[in-house]
Amino acid sequence: MIPGYGAALLRSLERFLLPNSCVACGRLVDRHLPDELVCSLCRWRMKPLIGGCRRCSQPLPPVGPCRFCAPWPEELLWARSAVWLDPEAKAVVHHLKYRGYPALADFAAAMIARYIARPEAGVLVPIPLTATKERRRGYNQAALLARALGKRWGLPVDQTLLVRVREGGSQTALTPEARLANIKDAFRARSASAVELIIIIDDVLTTGATLIAAAAALVDAGCSRVGAVTFARTSPFERRISAQSSEHQR
Ligand SMILES: [Zn+2]
Ligand SMILES: [Zn+2]
Repeated sequence: MIPGYGAALLRSLERFLLPNSCVACGRLVDRHLPDELVCSLCRWRMKPLIGGCRRCSQPLPPVGPCRFCAPWPEELLWARSAVWLDPEAKAVVHHLKYRGYPALADFAAAMIARYIARPEAGVLVPIPLTATKERRRGYNQAALLARALGKRWGLPVDQTLLVRVREGGSQTALTPEARLANIKDAFRARSASAVELIIIIDDVLTTGATLIAAAAALVDAGCSRVGAVTFARTSPFERRISAQSSEHQR
């Protein structure tokens, strides 16, 4: 397997020579759309998040308050995701992260801009990888997504504010609590008190453990208002049935 930019370079060459096929279903994408990596049927199949909790957008339980965002630090004001992590969105994330398709970051940013209202202000801060992991992959998919979204929304991106100091082990932990214990202290932030609102950017939101840990580091660094935007979100139902499988790995 060729990591990072090597794979991306091969991919560009292949796309120059061959017509595109959709990363989600494999059908040929219309030749007059040379930059399209996802066919219109798969785009249509991606389901946006609608309604739900006003703070975290998660579907509300039949009775009582939202439990998904209950353990969040109070400075983490809101989280939005464009679409549910159904097979089509899952294929986009997989190709973006592991198959050398960095150009899919722009597709994901376009979906976010389509379904999520642009915040009035804020600095976009991608969830960092450890230096080792970023070197191996050749890029950080969350940083690519933040830059693509920053262009669309006209908001600044800061890739140095938040640093990942350790991996936090495998994210295959069984429960949200175990995942949080696993990833706690994985991030450090430099002084963020001057920034009015930080918007954390990531590809997928699963249990929220990564988001809580990153927000906690930003709050420690003096930031008092944090929001979060991801391209996709694991549905609560899927999270239950896949709790013991590979789940979402960075
Ligand atoms: Zn398709
Ligand atoms: Zn909530």
